Amino acid sequence: MPLPQTVQRPTLSLVLPIYNEEQVIPELDKRLKSFLSGVLDVGGSWEVIFVNDGSVDASPRLLDQLAANEARYRVVHFARNFGHQAAITAGLDRAEGDAVVIMDADLQDPPEVVSDMLEKWREGYDVVYGVRSKRHGEGIFKRFSAAIFYRVMVAALGVKLPVDAGDFRLMSRPVVLTLRSLRERHRFMRGLVAWVGFRQTSVRYERPQRFAGETKYPLHKMVRFAFDGITSFSTAPLKLATWVGAFSGLGAVAIGGWALYVRLFTDKTVQGWTTLMLLLALSTSAQMLMIGFLGDYVGRIYEEIKNRPLYIVAKETVIEDERPGQLLP
Ligand code: UDP
Ligand code: MG
Repeated sequence: MPLPQTVQRPTLSLVLPIYNEEQVIPELDKRLKSFLSGVLDVGGSWEVIFVNDGSVDASPRLLDQLAANEARYRVVHFARNFGHQAAITAGLDRAEGDAVVIMDADLQDPPEVVSDMLEKWREGYDVVYGVRSKRHGEGIFKRFSAAIFYRVMVAALGVKLPVDAGDFRLMSRPVVLTLRSLRERHRFMRGLVAWVGFRQTSVRYERPQRFAGETKYPLHKMVRFAFDGITSFSTAPLKLATWVGAFSGLGAVAIGGWALYVRLFTDKTVQGWTTLMLLLALSTSAQMLMIGFLGDYVGRIYEEIKNRPLYIVAKETVIEDERPGQLLP
């Protein structure tokens, strides 16, 4: 059934997490408006959702002022700082657009790139992520750690994740609705988006420097984030103990053989040494193996608790008229 005329969803929603960005907000407002008027006045409507993630500077006041003058700006204020990923989630929960774009507030994700994303979306893609072809003004450490992080996630842990892409991405409404149904607590959004599937593609862009202010991701938050990413999508670390156990089991056999040889065929042993060596090697590997098995079960419990859907349907033919009871006049 078509929606009544009065309830018209916007074509494009922009979701921007904001944490202490008072220095950026005025410029952000200008850039957003010039971009949105240029692209979408041709047809289609838009909304911008700012999620204030418990800012303690002038950001909340600035955002409220902007929203008072622009009906298509919506502001959500968190009661305290819940973190970037929570802010994105809140934005996606509220976004009503046919296409929804998540972007950083510091203009490192240039609004103009959204045009390219929209083009891909019109071609029929459901997810268009921004891949950073160059990163300006980010320290060697940040670039290096990011490069390593994505590659370890993909290669060693088998997580399907686009390399060198952040949270800057466009998603179609079906993808957004699917993401809303994933309520796991440790949220690694870019991983979840990759996980849901649908037709995904990328656009490349040069990532400029932060417009003003400091990064809101100090080292401890970055480490926490990386850890969340790994543990939300891989139970490989839990199974590590099984492998260590298996290898130390082989080691135990070798050490045991050697200890027996020394005991039986030489006279270099101290009383009790052989027994000690054998027991030590055997019990270590047995413990490791058992921890590995425990890890496997814990991993399964964890998977169950996350309660992700077993499958996600992108499209389906529905033969409405053939439902029982409806064939009767
Ligand atoms: N941010 C947030 N909550 C936080 C940390 C960051 O909402 O706890 C927002 C921040 O305002 C920005 C985006 O997340 O819009 C990305 O943060 P930032 O630019 O500082 O990260 P970086 O680009 O340095 O990785
Ligand atoms: Mg930034």
